[in-house]
Amino acid sequence: MEKLYTDYLVIGSGPAGQKAAIQAAKLGKSVVVVEKEGYLGGGSLNSGTIPSKSLREAILDLTDFYKKSFYGQQDTIKKVSINDLNYRLHKVIDEQKKALLKQFEKNHIHVVYGSACFKDSHHVEVLDPSSQAFCEVRFECCLLATGSKPRNPINVPFDNEKVFDSTRLLSIDHVPQTMIVLGGGIIGAEYASFFAALGTEVTVVDRREHLLPLLDVEIGMHLQKALSTLGLRMVGNKQPEKIERKPSCVEVTFTDGSKMEAEMLLYALGREANVDNLHIGKAGIYLSKNGYIPVNALFQTVSSHIYAAGDVIGSPALASTSMEQGRLAARHAFGAQTHHFPTFYPIGIYTIPEISSCGYTEDQLKELGFRYEIGRAYYYEIARNQIVGNDPGMFKILFHAETLEILGIHIIGRTATEVIHIGQVAMSFNAKIDYFIDQIFNYPTYAEGYRIAALNGYNKLKHKK
Ligand SMILES: Cc1cc2nc3c(=O)[nH]c(=O)nc-3n(C[C@H](O)[C@H](O)[C@H](O)COP(=O)(O)OP(=O)(O)OC[C@H]3O[C@@H](n4cnc5c(N)ncnc54)[C@H](O)[C@@H]3O)c2cc1C
Repeated sequence: MEKLYTDYLVIGSGPAGQKAAIQAAKLGKSVVVVEKEGYLGGGSLNSGTIPSKSLREAILDLTDFYKKSFYGQQDTIKKVSINDLNYRLHKVIDEQKKALLKQFEKNHIHVVYGSACFKDSHHVEVLDPSSQAFCEVRFECCLLATGSKPRNPINVPFDNEKVFDSTRLLSIDHVPQTMIVLGGGIIGAEYASFFAALGTEVTVVDRREHLLPLLDVEIGMHLQKALSTLGLRMVGNKQPEKIERKPSCVEVTFTDGSKMEAEMLLYALGREANVDNLHIGKAGIYLSKNGYIPVNALFQTVSSHIYAAGDVIGSPALASTSMEQGRLAARHAFGAQTHHFPTFYPIGIYTIPEISSCGYTEDQLKELGFRYEIGRAYYYEIARNQIVGNDPGMFKILFHAETLEILGIHIIGRTATEVIHIGQVAMSFNAKIDYFIDQIFNYPTYAEGYRIAALNGYNKLKHKK
């Protein structure tokens, strides 16, 4: 059996593992990454973030989605084949994998492909697919970055034909006519909007009344309207009881006795930490009640030289936040200057239309008793939007009515996930709303929405005085 010794062992090569490994290497440490799959990138690159966002972009292009507002809606949506979509998807994944491999090589990161499992708090064994140990790694510090997987309850008949989770969905061989999406969270809402844009008749079902309850309510209402324009149907306050495959469809029976059927079903009701066969107990680590690895603010587990980051520690479970958690964990492990994970960070939701937010929602401000004002800019007021396609959308900026400090930014519409960063940077420097008024923005741009919204909010304050 091969025996390795390393300063830093990283288990998992997703966003958290990648950034931690590179950071440790930059600090001059020897690094070994163990990855269960035969390739790098984790769920993010191979089944989550990158595939779903590549599909989204391919769908927008191939259906001429943005051309419609100028050149009119055709009677039938342009037919797009799965092969066309997959072509783009695989090209992006391949390019990203190459870039990642190069980065690992440049930083002399040693990769072992196999499944890691703890022997004790300083050793892991790496197993091949037949569960034979072929390598042992002794480490000083370790990062658990094993990510998460879709929840697959045993009574759901996943079959890669009619019943899918978000990973299996990438293997569909045709675009369905009808689809039920169980779960109106981020993954469910994103895929539901993609298929609706492809012309599939989509019904999203959730136990809550609305999609994406994490959103600012006003933005949520805009989303709901935009999605119903796409033909998507949302059915709230319903819980599935039974999912059955029928010869030509899948049928869901709900707890209220009602039934629904469709050609395909996406089960998007939750994810769980990837800890199977890791034997974390041998390193003195146990899962919390909600099934994730508990860590302190510095990402240390109860065994303080073993850290955990990314989806395996639970919310917010984003690629973006996982990367930073991994980097911070590695810096702390080797005594480099570090800081706590930021309180505010942007959240990007790639529904069609896309959404991004940073900071408090209006309901949160009410609950906390803040005196706030709202500045709004609607996309029809933004010249750039008219030039590129006249899509619906809005900026909503919440700011303190006395100190003028920016408290929350919520954007729905084209480029939302890009332009949010302007607001995020302003917030991180404690900027006040008049900052956006006193700056000159390129014209015509979507970013100009900040200025329009700031003027709208600021003028309301003046009138109230
Ligand atoms: C459909 C979908 C869309 C998403 N879209 C976005 C988005 O737009 N933006 C965003 O920020 N986030 C998005 N996410 C979330 C994002 O993908 C995750 O937050 C991110 O992948 C978590 O990174 P990670 O490093 O914790 O784990 P992962 O990326 O899951 O990687 C974990 C790795 O660990 C490996 N592993 C597991 N167990 C072992 C073991 N015992 N030994 C060795 N290796 C092991 C796995 O094989 C895997 O490669 C999306 C997720 C999904 C499912």
